[in-house]
Amino acid sequence: MLDFLFKKQSNQPIYLFNTLSREKDLFVPIKSGKVGLYTCGPTVYGFPHLGNMRTYVFEDILKRVLNYNAYKVHHIMNITDVGHLTGDRDMGDDKMEKESRIEGKTAWEIADFYTKAFKDDLKNLNIIFPDVFCKATDNIKEQIEMIEVLEKKGFIYKTSDGIYFDTSKVSDYNKLSHQKLEDLKEGARIEANPEKKNSTDFALWKFSPKDIKRQMEWPSPYGVGFPGWHIECSAMSVKYLGEQFDIHCGAVDFVNLHHTNELAQTESATGKKPWVKYWLHGEFLNLDKGRKMSKSAGDAITVNNTFIEKGMSPLVFRFVCLNTHYRKAMEWNDEVAVSSSHAYEILKKKITNLGKEIGKVDSEWKIKFNTAINDDLNMAQALAVLNEMLKSDLPPAHKLATALDFDKVFGLELKKVSEKDEVKTEIPEEIQKLVDERKTARANKDWKKSDELREKVKSLGFEVKDTPEGQEIVKIQLVDTFR
Ligand code: AMP
Ligand code: ZN
Repeated sequence: MLDFLFKKQSNQPIYLFNTLSREKDLFVPIKSGKVGLYTCGPTVYGFPHLGNMRTYVFEDILKRVLNYNAYKVHHIMNITDVGHLTGDRDMGDDKMEKESRIEGKTAWEIADFYTKAFKDDLKNLNIIFPDVFCKATDNIKEQIEMIEVLEKKGFIYKTSDGIYFDTSKVSDYNKLSHQKLEDLKEGARIEANPEKKNSTDFALWKFSPKDIKRQMEWPSPYGVGFPGWHIECSAMSVKYLGEQFDIHCGAVDFVNLHHTNELAQTESATGKKPWVKYWLHGEFLNLDKGRKMSKSAGDAITVNNTFIEKGMSPLVFRFVCLNTHYRKAMEWNDEVAVSSSHAYEILKKKITNLGKEIGKVDSEWKIKFNTAINDDLNMAQALAVLNEMLKSDLPPAHKLATALDFDKVFGLELKKVSEKDEVKTEIPEEIQKLVDERKTARANKDWKKSDELREKVKSLGFEVKDTPEGQEIVKIQLVDTFR
């Protein structure tokens, strides 16, 4: 219990952009030295796509930054295995039951299979597992109990298809979204159930349909049925982290609906505000210039088919995520995968070539790194610090020690990389000649010729990178050498 006393908190303040305040807030935990963290997990009806995984990488980086600053993080993640309907607003089919019909398996088998696939992706991306994975179906009692508290306090009403939360009873319903109530209501009108008192009201418990036998259903004081999508996170976070905790995360699509509803029902049930001190939301991974990558649109771009099946390290994806701030939308296409793979190879080569002796972590570089990561997880800046440090005149053994220290946050498995033997890329004479010609072309500002030479080099299987130290030649090699 006293273990945090033995670890000194970093004296560098941490600032996190809080969706509640819309500002970078100074992070001050509720309990000194400890952090309660809840991150919304996947709905396990399909393989997670890279967009989903971007959010989990961002949350992993947040957790590692807190750990780096010597906080003890207690991390809970739910697994949504019931209650998430095809229309997010309590209409349509249950995603699990629908997939079970498509695949001819039970809903429980579907949940187990895709939960395992999700955990494999976490492992492949070197994401630290939460302390607790909790399934919605394992916590039905807790969800019903919270609905009963809400009933006693007068927040619920019944319609023909379920029990609903009355959002008009909550004066600060829009405090997380910062949207005008009218705009939130407008959004909620899509697919609206005509029996709802307000378009923003949402289901706490849905009754099983009379004509179809559901696979996942439970008795409750209100009738046989299943929980609404939002109540699981409220009930389970309170169960594992208490009625008030520090940080809650997800991607930006959760702000206006899922998190707004979790917040309204939890604070109404417990009467304690704020339920969560800091809300962090990651931006989307997009396709085709701004279209959100989405499971329901059939975007099946996964860690497996993008990296592993092609012999590339999935850590390339982690590296890509580190390069873009979590609050900036990120565009995904094959070129991003290939160019990032090369950039990652260059970094690994630099680390391997430092040798195997591990010296001392350099305190000045450490401060610079700590400042970057504590500034709302500015990982691109942190990578820039790493690169500057690698260029500095620090002895190689100290460089390695410092890089490995930074890697506690990057999570790029640089220790394994450092254990490899020195990488020497054999540059054929023909390539070297073309690269030298390109140097001359660039000196003459002949960009057209420079580009042509770059393409020529590429067609011969090598990539030229322009770095502050000059041109760097990398062999185009999709098969990762380190995993
Ligand atoms: P789901 O499995 O659909 O419930 O989503 C799991 C997590 O992935 C949630 O935090 C979503 O907000 C997030 N997410 C979904 N699509 C994307 C995307 N294209 N980019 C980033 N995060 C996403
Ligand atoms: Zn949630």
